[in-house]
Amino acid sequence: MLRFYNTLSRKKEVFTPLEGDTVRMYSCGPTVYNYAHIGNLRTYIFMDLIRRTLRFEGYKIKGVMNITDVGHLMADSDDGEDKMAVAAREQKLSPWEIAEKYTKVFFEDLKKLNIGTPEIIAKATDHIPEMINYVQALEKAGFSYETSDGIYYDIAKFPRYGCLSGANLDDQLAGARVEVNSEKHHPADFALWKKADPRHIMQWDSPWGKGYPGWHIECSAMSRKYLGETFDIHSGGVDHIPIHHENEIAQNEALTGKQSVRFWMHGEFMLVNGGKMSKSLGNTYTISDLEQRGYAPLDFRFFCLNTHYRKKLNFTFEGLDAAKISRARLNAQLAEHAAGTNKIPTEKLDSYRDRFKAAIEDDMNVPLALGVLFTAIKEPKSKDIFEMANEFDCIFGLDLNAAALPKEDAAPEIPAEVKALSDERTAAKKAKNYALADELRAKINALGYSVIDIPGGVEIKKN
Ligand code: AMP
Ligand code: ZN
Repeated sequence: MLRFYNTLSRKKEVFTPLEGDTVRMYSCGPTVYNYAHIGNLRTYIFMDLIRRTLRFEGYKIKGVMNITDVGHLMADSDDGEDKMAVAAREQKLSPWEIAEKYTKVFFEDLKKLNIGTPEIIAKATDHIPEMINYVQALEKAGFSYETSDGIYYDIAKFPRYGCLSGANLDDQLAGARVEVNSEKHHPADFALWKKADPRHIMQWDSPWGKGYPGWHIECSAMSRKYLGETFDIHSGGVDHIPIHHENEIAQNEALTGKQSVRFWMHGEFMLVNGGKMSKSLGNTYTISDLEQRGYAPLDFRFFCLNTHYRKKLNFTFEGLDAAKISRARLNAQLAEHAAGTNKIPTEKLDSYRDRFKAAIEDDMNVPLALGVLFTAIKEPKSKDIFEMANEFDCIFGLDLNAAALPKEDAAPEIPAEVKALSDERTAAKKAKNYALADELRAKINALGYSVIDIPGGVEIKKN
């Protein structure tokens, strides 16, 4: 029986989907103003583990992840400039170019880490009408007020505010910083819509003049559009509990009066050398940084899997070195098992399988599940163990089958010529020269490869 820890009830609860065998799940996605750092990626590995666990249990998934390309301000409390605008200015690009650049790298990072892409990827800027409708509905229902710089949610109208974090309104008031926006009724009131001054690049027409949406309304509008008024799971990092997710609940439930999310699931933070990750400390590593230092992305994935998702994980290079060595040993032993001729009794294999399943079903205890694998590989060398490890890999996502492949069967290198043709095709598509793009695709096919468009880029495969 699958049990997940629900932040809302603060306990583990048995999970089954609300309707049939399809789980409807929303995951807060990246704000694409910068490269994802290893902390962000830990949270997406956590999302991936939820998805893999649900599949392991036989469920189908309708997963939605947003791409925030407008409205996320420098401080979560709606202060400061839009993160996209700041990056655009610094890099002398338009916010749209910034979004395209980092979205592409983001999906490449997910792929390198074997993180499955959710079924629906929703860009905030593609959903402005839905957000405007949502704000209008809140306005009509009396949950908002207008100030000189925007439309704000009036949290005093939503007495349940704080149900997720357990902080009541007085706590929020006491914890709020010196008030910068004196027109707000309560310091925790948050912007649904911001009025834009003419210099702001990203702005849209609305009933309140030109402006842009607040960050929180993005997730409410897109989750409701794709998943309905009540859905099964919402995931994100723990930092989102006290503001972003409280605000989503306030927006969702004001209109329906119904519980909007059944299971709130949060991944704990990654620290670096015991402290916070920050640009000023120079410790916000990206996957490319790790690759340049000689680590495979899967070394990082393996490093993350060794700590339960609800525990803080301290990143150090010593820790990553240990993970790299341990993964190499695991692969080497599995390669020996793949060639092994011993038979392992079925009861023994079943007992490993049972222990693995019990660990996963207990709120995704992946470290314990890895322990089961590490015990099993001590058995006499047998193909049975190799095959079982590959079953377990549906959760781990460590490409364990590759351990036993002769090198020429391992993922083939894409020839430079094919890569260059694919880049040309991408450029042609961007320039809307579809005839040329088709021609280039044909050339790629003629060389024995195919090119598939995926969110944020392309994938090249050998035919
Ligand atoms: P952002 O792009 O800032 O909205 O963050 C993307 C995701 O990464 C969110 O779900 C955050 O909760 C998560 N996140 C941010 N910093 C960390 C960290 N240090 N460790 C783990 N997750 C993080
Ligand atoms: Zn969100």
